[in-house]
Amino acid sequence: MQTFDVYILGCGSATPTVRHLQTSQVVSFCGQLYMVDCGENAQLQFTKARLRPGRLEHIFISHLHGDHCLGLPGLVSTCTLLGRTTDLHVHGPVGLAQLFKPFIDAFSPPDMSFKVVYHEFNTDRPQCIYEDQALKVHTIPLTHRVPCCGFLFAEKEGVAHMRPEMMERYKIPYDKVNDIRMGGDYVTPGGEVVPHRLLTTEAEPARSYAYCSDTCYNPSIVPQIQGVNLLYHEATYSVAQQEAAERHFHSTTADAARIAEAAHVGQLVIGHFSARYLDDTLLLREAQAIFPNTVLACEGLKISVA
Ligand SMILES: [Zn+2]
Ligand SMILES: [Zn+2]
Repeated sequence: MQTFDVYILGCGSATPTVRHLQTSQVVSFCGQLYMVDCGENAQLQFTKARLRPGRLEHIFISHLHGDHCLGLPGLVSTCTLLGRTTDLHVHGPVGLAQLFKPFIDAFSPPDMSFKVVYHEFNTDRPQCIYEDQALKVHTIPLTHRVPCCGFLFAEKEGVAHMRPEMMERYKIPYDKVNDIRMGGDYVTPGGEVVPHRLLTTEAEPARSYAYCSDTCYNPSIVPQIQGVNLLYHEATYSVAQQEAAERHFHSTTADAARIAEAAHVGQLVIGHFSARYLDDTLLLREAQAIFPNTVLACEGLKISVA
């Protein structure tokens, strides 16, 4: 099975502390790296996690609040110093390029060895913003003080695997393999029909990861994230600060857990913790009371999407 992991680079809220840095993650899928949000310390944390910059070609920015995107100019600057040659694609809400392009250009040499390519999206509806042979990324519209989207990383359905012993038994030519893996039967030179189900084993179930930060309690996202293997949902506040959560368009631990429960996700990881909490275990206990399979995000954590 191909790798599908999430690295937490930062999981604090707007004010960084000595315990938590501003938001950034990396999704590692099939050898490629996808950055999700880029808070100030993202590039240092990226290096600390021993991730390879050459494998990073796409960065997804959820919204234009500083704690989610101010690491971008520094990261691009370092890529220039390292002599990067592959273009860097940055996806974010409308307004991303207007905000960052002049600033990043001002610090880039005229003969820069790669391009920063900006891709903007509207945050009012789910849309597919990235697709390759094995992976799709959709936006998840969230409810925050500014236009904001989460991201759904969904592995594409695999195809069946050939059973080597049946290949051998029926001497199946290689040019027939693709058709059989896609669902076809095999007809021997003698006219015998060997059904697909005897020749193959089923593909592994497709996996998915949903990233939802920042947002107030928003059950309208539940259908879109239904049954994901892993959900990251912000839990900026404890249930005792419900009023503050609503005022700032953020979620409490209970909000995050209720979303996870309603969407029947495999596992919940909570983050974007307010700087006020000196002990995150309170937040964990509150979420686990509603959704037991919850873990706390922390810098350096790597979680498998399984
Ligand atoms: Zn934030
Ligand atoms: Zn925000």
